[in-house]
Amino acid sequence: MNLCNLGLFIIIYKIKRLELNLKRKDYLCKMIRLTKIFTFETAHVLYGYDGKCKNLHGHSYRLFVTVKGIPLEDITHSKNGMLMDFGELKLIVNEEIVSQWDHAVLINAKTPHLQLGEQLKSQGHQVVFCDFQPTCEMMLYAIAEKINFRLPAHITLASLKLYETETSYAEWFADDQNG
Ligand SMILES: [Zn+2]
Repeated sequence: MNLCNLGLFIIIYKIKRLELNLKRKDYLCKMIRLTKIFTFETAHVLYGYDGKCKNLHGHSYRLFVTVKGIPLEDITHSKNGMLMDFGELKLIVNEEIVSQWDHAVLINAKTPHLQLGEQLKSQGHQVVFCDFQPTCEMMLYAIAEKINFRLPAHITLASLKLYETETSYAEWFADDQNG
C-alpha cells in the first residue's frame, strides 16, 4: 500500500467510525421508560373464592406505573429534557386510583356482594363497586384503562406492577396485549 492509498484508507476508516458513532447515539437516545411507585391501603372481598380472600380484609398495595416515550428536546420549554414530569404522573394516578381506592373496600357488584356493598355504604363506609372480581389481576386491567385515558398523546403506558403482599404481585405489559 503506497502513501496515497494509506491516506485514503485512513479517511474512509474515520468516516465509517463517525457514521457508527452517530448511529449508536441515535440508538441510545430514543425511547425512555419512566416509573413512579404508589402505595394504598385497600380492602376487598372475593365472591365465590375458595381461599382466605373470600373474607372481607385489606392489603397494603404497592403499584409501579411505567410510561414510555421520547423526552422533549426544546430549550424554550419548561419541561425540556423530560418525558413526563413525575408530578404530572403522580397527579393522574392519585386522582384516578389512589384517592378513590385508598381506605375503601372493592366490591364485585356483579355478584350478591352488591347487597353487602350497599349495606356498608349506607353505614358510611367508602365502597367502590366494581364490574370485576377485585383480584390483583383484574385491578390491573382497571388501572391500565383509567391511566391510559389520561396520558398525553405522545406518552404510552408501558407496564404496571401491583404488589398485593410483600411476595405476591401481578404485572401488565402493553406489549403483551397485542395479538
Ligand atoms: Zn386479599
